[in-house]
Amino acid sequence: MNLKELLKDGAAELGVELNDEAIRLLWVFKDFLKEYNKKVNLTAIRDDEGIVVKHFLDCLTVLPHLDCGAVIDIGTGPGFPGIIIKIVRPELKLTLVDARAKKVKFLEAAAALLGLEIECIHARAEDLGARFAQFDYAVSRAVAQMDILAGWCLPFVAPGGKFIAMKGPNFMEELAGARTAIKRAGGKVAEIIELTLPNSDIARSLIIIRKNVS
Ligand code: SAH
Repeated sequence: MNLKELLKDGAAELGVELNDEAIRLLWVFKDFLKEYNKKVNLTAIRDDEGIVVKHFLDCLTVLPHLDCGAVIDIGTGPGFPGIIIKIVRPELKLTLVDARAKKVKFLEAAAALLGLEIECIHARAEDLGARFAQFDYAVSRAVAQMDILAGWCLPFVAPGGKFIAMKGPNFMEELAGARTAIKRAGGKVAEIIELTLPNSDIARSLIIIRKNVS
């Protein structure tokens, strides 16, 4: 199977329909990431199949859980999952945040190349109080332990919105240690989804936390 088919079939397995334009843009992004990564270290995953399975398919797992509105990706690095979300669902409003200037520079260049309107912010999440409670969703992948992450991400979510933490298989202990932090930040665990990435034995999980209305 070629890689584009692997991506398309894998996405379908995750409940995500990829049209030709999305696949085209994902390929443009993959090639740009690989090229840029030769000069500036953005990701340790450098091969096509690794990027498609471990980055792209992994990022797509969150899509069926996003309805509509504004999404903020905290600690997006080279745009995971934020850029992937925007490529596949351009109607969503995307804000990407990263503490490292070199990553934000890459994000801005990637957004321009892809022709996508994406807000890219160079800041630490804790310093972005002006944007608190403005988003329908906060997402974050591979950034920090759940207790810290809840304190960073939940403030951005408007009442009734959701914070989705993208985690690995060993989330239970981490989550248990984060119950107080989640409650303090006004959140409640709504759903936990465990899945295996298509064409791999990589186990992943999505911890979906709802922001209280009052
Ligand atoms: N989400 C990406 C990157 C993970 S690496 C992925 O899944 O591949 C973690 C990223 O979080 C790094 O790019 C780092 O610069 C960023 N980061 C760490 N602490 C942060 C903070 N407090 N605020 C914003 N970004 C942060």
